Amino acid sequence: MADTILDKPERQRETQTRISVLLPLPFPGPLDYLAPADMVHPGDIVTVPLGRREEIGCVWDTQSAVPADFAPSTEPAIDIKRLRAIRSKQASTPLPQSLRRFIDWLAAYTLTPPGLVLAMAIRAYNAQAPRPHLGWVRGDAALTDLRITPARQRVLDSLGNAPRTTSDLAAAADASPAVIRGLAAAGMLREMPIPVSAPFGTPDPNFRTPHLSDDQESVATELRHAVDARKYSATLLEGVTGSGKTEVYLEAVAECLRQGRQIMVLLPEIALSSQWTDRFARRFGVQPAIWHSDLGGKRRRETWRAVSLGQASVVVGARSALFLPFPDLGLIIVDEEHETAFKQEDGVTYHGRDMAVVRARLANAPVVLVSATPSLESLANVESGRYRHLTLHARHGGAVLPEVALVDMRAHPPERGLFLSPVLTEAIDQTLERKEQAMLFLNRRGYAPLTLCRACGYRMECPNCSAWLVEHRARRLLACHHCGHTEPLPDLCPNCQAEGSLVPIGPGIERILEESRARFPDARILVMASDTLGSPQATAEAVRQISHREVDLIIGTQIVAKGWHFPHLTLVGVVDADLGLGGGDLRAAERTVQLLHQVAGRAGRAEAPGRVLLQSYLGEHPVMQALVSNDYRAFMEQEAAQRRPGFWPPYGRLAALIVSAATPEAADALARTIGEHAPQIPGVQILGPAPAPLAILRGRHRRRLLLRTPRNLAVQPILRHWLAGLRTASQERVDIDIDPVSFL
Ligand SMILES: [Zn+2]
Ligand SMILES: [Zn+2]
Repeated sequence: MADTILDKPERQRETQTRISVLLPLPFPGPLDYLAPADMVHPGDIVTVPLGRREEIGCVWDTQSAVPADFAPSTEPAIDIKRLRAIRSKQASTPLPQSLRRFIDWLAAYTLTPPGLVLAMAIRAYNAQAPRPHLGWVRGDAALTDLRITPARQRVLDSLGNAPRTTSDLAAAADASPAVIRGLAAAGMLREMPIPVSAPFGTPDPNFRTPHLSDDQESVATELRHAVDARKYSATLLEGVTGSGKTEVYLEAVAECLRQGRQIMVLLPEIALSSQWTDRFARRFGVQPAIWHSDLGGKRRRETWRAVSLGQASVVVGARSALFLPFPDLGLIIVDEEHETAFKQEDGVTYHGRDMAVVRARLANAPVVLVSATPSLESLANVESGRYRHLTLHARHGGAVLPEVALVDMRAHPPERGLFLSPVLTEAIDQTLERKEQAMLFLNRRGYAPLTLCRACGYRMECPNCSAWLVEHRARRLLACHHCGHTEPLPDLCPNCQAEGSLVPIGPGIERILEESRARFPDARILVMASDTLGSPQATAEAVRQISHREVDLIIGTQIVAKGWHFPHLTLVGVVDADLGLGGGDLRAAERTVQLLHQVAGRAGRAEAPGRVLLQSYLGEHPVMQALVSNDYRAFMEQEAAQRRPGFWPPYGRLAALIVSAATPEAADALARTIGEHAPQIPGVQILGPAPAPLAILRGRHRRRLLLRTPRNLAVQPILRHWLAGLRTASQERVDIDIDPVSFL
């Protein structure tokens, strides 16, 4: 709703001020406009003309008033007479200063035009404010000569302090709308806007206070102090799976609620958050506001609005919640901080965890990073004194950590064509006999990751990417997991035309399901994968079935690792513990340990002790040894020792340049040109150009360069200088990824 339409702005030029407006477009910075002096202020959302269009933008830092007849000689390029006036100011709360500074900061850090970052903040901005609903209250007129019939009396009796709508009042009084209209005409009823109820309930910090162990209580006290300090601090909260970390940090949330301030909780995958929000509701009596990219348009606008008005006190969300306009942010929690899902890879690339710390600093609020398996980045920040470290040592309620054992696949191989070792299947038999639950984990969707021709060795590849097609037998097709290309499984080999020669190689979870059905015919099996659990409701239903023991055997991809509480699960079998160690990824080992540790943590969370079996061909690998000895810290020290000398993150800084073009020749030429102009700075290393592991993605040919610097050298000025004179053709692109997580 535009509440202030400017009347003939051209004639009011003498009282106009020059202002900067940031538009959600890829310009290098804000544009200058004119507005009546003192009408708009930084953070206000305004409508401005742009060419022949109108755009919504945000007033950025205001310039000092400029007299109409005076264009400063120092800036001859900007003639105030040529500036256009803003069209209108929107009726909404301004974007808070801490959010505006965050947008500037993130744009500079990721080398993104600030307008594109603003776009993420105002995407859900509701230009159409809801029309107020009207209702009836008692009017000012004293009793008139209007005869008070029984129906009229019932209407008058039904009035309260709060306005009621016509239909509501008619129903309550058992009278027709005509009766109400008659009373209104006589002045005995008066119309009033019905106050818009806050769309989110108010969490009650004292709704159900938990009983905490001594260990938990002392950590909770520290966190409450951090909230009470009302200033920036960063804390790493580390605790083994099942140690009750959530309960503890919810006490910090409670403290912040008592202060009447707002809280942001980031989860890596919000669609899987039903158990979290239920737990929140049990503690605080209401559901929190939820924020993620799949939220419907109306709910998005309501939530954005409620946050900006301070009516939503707790928002649990995906990384995009960082851009919500909290006017009074008092605490940020990042749960499962080690998760790579916090990294946004498309569009503006940023790491949600790291940006949460920046957001907290700019809002002068405490941030708590939570994990059972903290990232090396966070541990390094603890070591350097930037973060405080709080630890929960014991599993809550007497549950013990599961025993982890290796299944040596060389010594105990599965039968030919199968993937489960007899050691594992026998352990499942015993678990099912005891009426306990078992889980098989394999982080690979589909039936088989590769389809090969037995006759000629041809491999089914994606036409758009340098990647194998994954067979999805249930859907009867081959799919590319990188670009979404699908095609039916052919009868003949496309290369040698042999019939029936195509065979699946290796397992995906569909194939493990097939094997499990044959091997455990009486077991009730449930599959948990992102493509079988399409909606949060489906996920919640699956979790319910598991909790209510309606399932004996769970087969899942990494979804199952997400902090679920499965009280009857006592055996976890990892089908391929070696998966994920290949690929030359900087963090492959760290990620494998984190993921498998999380998976293992699902077992034995209640009374019954848990057991984890890892099928591996690499028993001596440090990753397997770390998992068996359950010594995460020792493993991370070893990781640190490996990364430190070469200035690999977190001991140095890294930026990736991804060059892409329509042809391999163009990609090579551009990558070579960039490589030749690489800066020569002591301590700065350029790696590449080299073909990206996914050398072709969605039909585009890709080359990569890496820029690595010691920690004390920022990569942004180097990159800006390096790429400043670069010219690219229309089909060519250079994407910059600061602090890359994926190396594909
Ligand atoms: Zn063939
Ligand atoms: Zn593809």
